[in-house]
Amino acid sequence: MTAVQFDKIALIGIGLIGSSIAHDIKRLGLANDVVIATRSAQTLRRAEELKLGDRYTISAAEAAKDADLVIVSVPVGASESIARQIAPYLKPGAIVTDVGSTKRVVAEAGSDARFIGGHPLAGAETAGVEHAREDLFEAATWYLTPAQGSTAGVLYERLHRLLTSMGARPAAIDADTHDRLLACVSQLPHVLANLLAAQAAGALSGQEPRRLPAVGPSFRDATRVAGANSGIWTDIYMSNRDALAAAIDEFAQRLVQMRSLLAAADAVGVRAWNESARVDREALLGPGVTGGPVHELRVSVPNRPGVIAEIALALGGAGVNIADMALSPSEDNSQGVVALWVSGEEQGARAQELIAGLGFPVARA
Ligand code: NAP
Repeated sequence: MTAVQFDKIALIGIGLIGSSIAHDIKRLGLANDVVIATRSAQTLRRAEELKLGDRYTISAAEAAKDADLVIVSVPVGASESIARQIAPYLKPGAIVTDVGSTKRVVAEAGSDARFIGGHPLAGAETAGVEHAREDLFEAATWYLTPAQGSTAGVLYERLHRLLTSMGARPAAIDADTHDRLLACVSQLPHVLANLLAAQAAGALSGQEPRRLPAVGPSFRDATRVAGANSGIWTDIYMSNRDALAAAIDEFAQRLVQMRSLLAAADAVGVRAWNESARVDREALLGPGVTGGPVHELRVSVPNRPGVIAEIALALGGAGVNIADMALSPSEDNSQGVVALWVSGEEQGARAQELIAGLGFPVARA
């Protein structure tokens, strides 16, 4: 699997995520020129002191000019305006991606084929340029939301290879599915952590100090993300409010059901309810099926925008991880062959079946 190399990468926004990306790009030598842009002179100065890039500017447009790849790492609510600011300065063939935790807002904002949404499932409770971590993306799923019908395969392939070089595991997903899933597995847990902290604080109101006398690990674990970076999380809650409200409604119903079991003193019901939670958690978080030898699949595809997105989304939707990919166009550019590497016998067979189902000739190499 060959490393990917960019001439110029622009990083717009250099907080926890942007600076961790900058570290990886520098450490792995993935670009000849890294330009960093952020809105405040103070953060920019700190990025320069930490030597996160080669050049520094407070102008997103200036950073994006002539870049081969632009990565926008700002709060979700600011991404769209940055995308608009930089659009006139992008060169043809540039790739633009973001790292925002919700994907529909930006996906709905425009149909620029150069934009491929992204979201690394990696982070911390810390914020800002000081907290960059070199290993932040190691083995982390990194969702990509290419547009079926418009994302150019060659752009998707280059971005995918950059992320795998950084140790991440890119997985294609459509923006709608992403936001519904994340409402349930990320935003709802943040809401619950906040509510648990508030309820415990309420239980001690009037007492000084309000510190809990003793706390077991369950309270600490369940409230680890309470009050996470408000600058980022207010935007996340607001941009996915309909999906989050639906997840909260469903949760409220489950709480009422649990409450009824208690009110009816139904010990058998409570036991069954608790058992099924254990089974569910094991199924959700148990060992994956991504190990084993890597299989190479070779797929013949017509040379039109959206084909690679279609394949990646089909595999991502079925939980098949593409470990790496490479595109080779035919001499007349009318078609091409995409090589995909997939881990494990079962996943290799599933990938082959799914791709054949889309109507593309596919063979195991
Ligand atoms: P962060 O550490 O707070 O950094 C935010 C960065 O965005 C800073 O460079 C800041 O610039 C800039 N910024 C803030 N408000 C802005 C605005 N209105 N316009 C332009 N730039 C603005 O945040 P982060 O944790 O890196 O998060 C960045 C993105 O990553 C968010 O979209 C978030 O959803 C996503 N994400 C975060 C995590 C996580 O765990 N933290 C995980 C996955 C994805 P200045 O410092 O110059 O003010």
